[in-house]
Amino acid sequence: MIIKKIQFLSHFLVFIALTGTICYILQHRGNKMATPKKKRSLERRRRRRAQSKVVLPNVVKCENCSNSRLPHHMCPSCGWYDGRCIIAPKEKKAA
Ligand SMILES: [Zn+2]
Repeated sequence: MIIKKIQFLSHFLVFIALTGTICYILQHRGNKMATPKKKRSLERRRRRRAQSKVVLPNVVKCENCSNSRLPHHMCPSCGWYDGRCIIAPKEKKAA
């Protein structure tokens, strides 16, 4: 009698597990991405987006050709850095 009860219980547990997995598969069929549970509020969205903004880079004047260049960088137009020529500028060919 006890063995039969245990058998029945084990079968029942297997049945529950199988139905659970089948229900899970049916529910998540075709849904490959994780989705958020709740909608983000307007304030939270605005607070997040307030962090990202376009910032202009700090630009200084070249002491050789007075073109604009980035600080602590070689001048892209004449190739000067720290009072001396690092790379000679390429001469543009006339088309
Ligand atoms: Zn320059």
